[in-house]
Amino acid sequence: MRVVVVGAGLAGLSCARLLHTAGVDVTVLEKSRGPGGRLTTRRRDDWQGDLGAQYFTARDPEFVESVAEWQEAGVAAPWHGRLVRLHGADIRDVADGQRRWVGVPRMSAITRWLASDLDVRPQTRVTGLRRGGAGWQLDTDEGGRLDEVDQVVLAVPPPQAEPLLRPHVPSLAAAARSARMQSCWAAVFRGLEPAPAFDAAFVMEHPLRWVARDGSKPGRGNSGIWVAHGSGGWSDARMVMEPDDVAPELAAALADTLGLSASPEVLSVHRWRYSQCVEPLTDGYLLDTESGLAACGDWCNGDRVEGACLSGQRLARALTASHQSC
Ligand SMILES: Cc1cc2nc3c(=O)[nH]c(=O)nc-3n(C[C@H](O)[C@H](O)[C@H](O)COP(=O)(O)OP(=O)(O)OC[C@H]3O[C@@H](n4cnc5c(N)ncnc54)[C@H](O)[C@@H]3O)c2cc1C
Repeated sequence: MRVVVVGAGLAGLSCARLLHTAGVDVTVLEKSRGPGGRLTTRRRDDWQGDLGAQYFTARDPEFVESVAEWQEAGVAAPWHGRLVRLHGADIRDVADGQRRWVGVPRMSAITRWLASDLDVRPQTRVTGLRRGGAGWQLDTDEGGRLDEVDQVVLAVPPPQAEPLLRPHVPSLAAAARSARMQSCWAAVFRGLEPAPAFDAAFVMEHPLRWVARDGSKPGRGNSGIWVAHGSGGWSDARMVMEPDDVAPELAAALADTLGLSASPEVLSVHRWRYSQCVEPLTDGYLLDTESGLAACGDWCNGDRVEGACLSGQRLARALTASHQSC
């Protein structure tokens, strides 16, 4: 069986890795410069900041096992920062007993590690799928074409999966249409004065929904670097704006939220058009065995890191099982 996985985020790489381990010939195509997707970290010479997923929890025993493997490989560790809930001037510690994990020395270390033994082709955007005589042909934006493959796995957010599925399996395209994504403006800052007395906060009733001292996470060392995320509604309303125009608004919101004496320095701003799925499916993954098309990702299985990883792994097991039974 020859498989192409479209998308080198956590779901695509988790799927590809299990397929590769099972001896399947698998190639991963990724439109960006490297793997990671929403597990991404922006890096410059003197700072770094996780711009997407901030931490993850592990509840399902299968995912607990994966996290233990990542910890053993030195790419994940628990984060013991002081986490609070901010409601105006009211600050309450979050004491939910939940262990929170992060990638070390940065979030993207996990996906780099997962990708290490795989055939991952960056800067390759899949623009269309065509059914040939011996399998699927994939069109890419550089005009390149792969040899025909038996199985295509779309491990991309639902608005990017939908147009690829629509001409071939309308029922899967309809499922992708029903999984609604929210957007998020994210930014990295430094120069917060006075420095907050906590390491991260869920922000309630504010343009921001999250702030975190990136340097409080294990393996970072850049203690003065902070990350903030705009709330869904606030970000959705600004999706058509340019990063340079949103940056001062985010800095002002951060200063207001944390009671800073001045606006902090904005080091980087990122627009997440598809941030988190607010109406995810519960199927785990989508698979049409007749056509050889499938989809996985957080949106098929909850809305988080754990769901993305399990979605990819479960799809890989289903594909291996159906191949063995043929
Ligand atoms: C701002 C933000 C904060 C978050 N916070 C948390 C958190 O604290 N905890 C948590 O558990 N989760 C969090 N999440 C969610 C978490 O990041 C995701 O659930 C998870 O990373 C999704 O992984 P995925 O593989 O399903 O999708 P993605 O990571 O989106 O991977 C999809 C990949 O497909 C590629 N791609 C898309 N279209 C194409 C194409 N046509 N051709 C080739 N490649 C393509 C993309 O470039 C991308 O690399 C957050 C997400 C964001 C954005």
